[in-house]
Amino acid sequence: TKLRVGLLFGGCSGEHEVSISSARAIAKALTTDENANRYELLPVYIQKDGVWKDRKIAQQVLESGKPLFSNDEVQPSDRLPQTINLSEIDLWFPILHGPNGEDGTIQGLLTLMQVPFVGSGVLGSAMGMDKIAMKMAFSQAGLPQVKYKLVMRSQIYSNPCIFPKLCDQLEVELGYPCFVKPANLGSSVGISKVRNRQELETALDNAASYDRRIIVEAGVMARELECAVLGTDQPKASVVGEITFKSDFYDYETKYTEGKADLFIPAKVSNEIANQIQEMAVQAFLAVDAAGLGRVDFFYVEQTGEILINEINTLPGFTSTSMYPQLWAASGVSFDELVHQLIQFALERHSETK
Ligand code: ADP
Ligand code: MG
Ligand code: MG
Repeated sequence: TKLRVGLLFGGCSGEHEVSISSARAIAKALTTDENANRYELLPVYIQKDGVWKDRKIAQQVLESGKPLFSNDEVQPSDRLPQTINLSEIDLWFPILHGPNGEDGTIQGLLTLMQVPFVGSGVLGSAMGMDKIAMKMAFSQAGLPQVKYKLVMRSQIYSNPCIFPKLCDQLEVELGYPCFVKPANLGSSVGISKVRNRQELETALDNAASYDRRIIVEAGVMARELECAVLGTDQPKASVVGEITFKSDFYDYETKYTEGKADLFIPAKVSNEIANQIQEMAVQAFLAVDAAGLGRVDFFYVEQTGEILINEINTLPGFTSTSMYPQLWAASGVSFDELVHQLIQFALERHSETK
């Protein structure tokens, strides 16, 4: 009998559309000859408002590639999978990017159901989404990274006002340019590169509209290299890829506008650098307790030879042209095989943690 795979996509996040694209690619991979003999695809769609839909509607979104909305007033209980026939699903394949999907919330729900699921559990997902927790774990693992400071929203709007003093400190400790980021987002949403005091103040105010916790980092001039990791306790690293673009940094528009960024696989770096990155990628994966898949992103400062870790993404973009599957394709694991392996790792992990 075939394993019934609940492909969970969409989601309450700014990366809803990307999730639909990722899900379309995975759905296709599940229905190719070899995988169709092993797996039955059951799509489950979470609307932007958090409402769960399966069967016809989920299928329709998968086929059209377009989000669907309902105009009804949403009750808290609608944001639980109460209308979904959960006993039909043997394994979940969540491919939700960003908050409410990549951050441990959905993983908690799936854990409660005691059904295996692809990817990281609650801890790995939450650590990977939170840039502050992630940096603490990386630092503990001895991984080099840029200098950074944590800022709380309450420090920005405090009474009596400590904001000028706070900015003075950031200027002295981090200098310009620096990057201001909400702690718990992705896709560069809410991130600013700042070059002076006025930009710093505006950027902090902007980031505070997304999150209570903000991270400010020293900016580096570096090449951006990425490495894909696959597995559980002895994860493997893929070849290294590079992203190039003409814009000031890898912002939202550059990420999601066709033709604004180029991927180079493998990256043109020495074997030594590539090996170092692969090793660091695996260490980073283990440091945050990721599982199944993760894409680890680096800054390579060519002038000094320094490799700094930037972040891990525990549910990286998974469209047919995304870096993660392409890195594996270049490492000898086809898209279809990758999907199969992820499911197998999920089953393995589930039986081990039971
Ligand atoms: P996200 O999780 O949203 O992708 P990142 O931390 O990866 O956020 O930042 C997005 C992009 O911003 C990076 O890919 C890079 O182009 C730029 N960036 C972020 N931090 C720095 C930094 N400290 N120095 C230089 N560029 C940075
Ligand atoms: Mg990220
Ligand atoms: Mg990033």
